[in-house]
Amino acid sequence: MLTAYTEKETVMADHRKLGRELELFDSDPLAGAGLPFWLPAGAAARHAVEEYLRELERRNGYQHVVSPPLGRPALFQLSRHLDHFADDMFPAVAFDDDDQLMLRPSLCPHHALVYRSRGRSHRELPLRIAEIGQMFRAERSGVLGGLSRVRVIALNDGHTFCAPSQVVDEVGRELRLIRRAHADLGVRASSFRLSLRDGSAKFIDDDAMWAQAEQVLRDALDRAGVEYEDAPGEAAFYGPKIDIQVRDDAGREQTLSTVQVDYDKPARFALDYAAADGSRQRPVMIHRSLAGSMERLFAHLIEVHEGAFPAWYAPVQLAVLPVSPAQDGAARALVEAASDLRAELSFEGSLGARIRQAALRKIPYVGIIGEREAAAGQVSLRLRDGREIPAQEVSSALGRIAELVESRSHDLHG
Ligand SMILES: [Zn+2]
Repeated sequence: MLTAYTEKETVMADHRKLGRELELFDSDPLAGAGLPFWLPAGAAARHAVEEYLRELERRNGYQHVVSPPLGRPALFQLSRHLDHFADDMFPAVAFDDDDQLMLRPSLCPHHALVYRSRGRSHRELPLRIAEIGQMFRAERSGVLGGLSRVRVIALNDGHTFCAPSQVVDEVGRELRLIRRAHADLGVRASSFRLSLRDGSAKFIDDDAMWAQAEQVLRDALDRAGVEYEDAPGEAAFYGPKIDIQVRDDAGREQTLSTVQVDYDKPARFALDYAAADGSRQRPVMIHRSLAGSMERLFAHLIEVHEGAFPAWYAPVQLAVLPVSPAQDGAARALVEAASDLRAELSFEGSLGARIRQAALRKIPYVGIIGEREAAAGQVSLRLRDGREIPAQEVSSALGRIAELVESRSHDLHG
């Protein structure tokens, strides 16, 4: 059962303020608005999350690809982005009339090309491909800020190409994967939306196609037991979608995860597969993002966890503090033994100041080595939540932390 958090959120921290304090990301007017850069701590957390998402996808039948973040206008003409989405795209860079390039507004066109890079058989379906890839939005500078409204976006994207009879199962499968990712990351969905078209001309005109896609999504939502609301006017221009919403610190809702059914692009790109009877058939394209863009995801994660990420994606997982210089060697050895963790040595300043510093940086585990611990090959742990674990063998302390990190526990001691 998929459920959204419905209780009134308490006031959350602003991710921009925390992002600065924790040195996760920054931006500079010289580089341009809406173009944040990830500092080492933010990049470490983001990479841990990216590796997790790729592993989750790999274990669930996805193959990963890498595609370029720009392409010829003809590609985006074929995908209809230039007809329906041009206002949100950067203008083309022209070398001459025959040689123009545009920053892409989505990964879908490239993934459609991956599908048709060779002939496909029904035995290969569902074919699932994924990528954390860059795409671009020509947002006006006035609306940009922090990580939630940016001009360059790294999307956790995936496309499933399947037979029409497989669509409802595939959408249900994506909803389960989204639930898994949300639980591991600590994402709190505020609502589920079925985003539909309204009378606007921005949506492609094909009544039968919209009706069919909408029915498929309703069936999948009902089967999954998900409560949702209809949201007219919020569809993608090529089809309806399930949107999983999160709230920011100001209470505004944004879409994080999404599952979309598309009958249009397979026709536009002339995608097909050989059916069991030898005939050529058209696949359906499902677009989905388990966790949204890395930017919007981290804006949410920073706010919802107030910067205190679960240990598995904390930038630094363990800080090791020798009580006095006499224990520097033992502390250094502990950091080396903790090579499976993001561990660092902290020896500048008084012990109290270093403990406070680790708390300010929201480091989940602080290992303290005094004279007694050093002599006995032990370490005392202080957890971010205030708990203190008495001195124990270094190997058992590290083993326990590694176990909790590996299982993506949200409890620091289990
Ligand atoms: Zn797509």
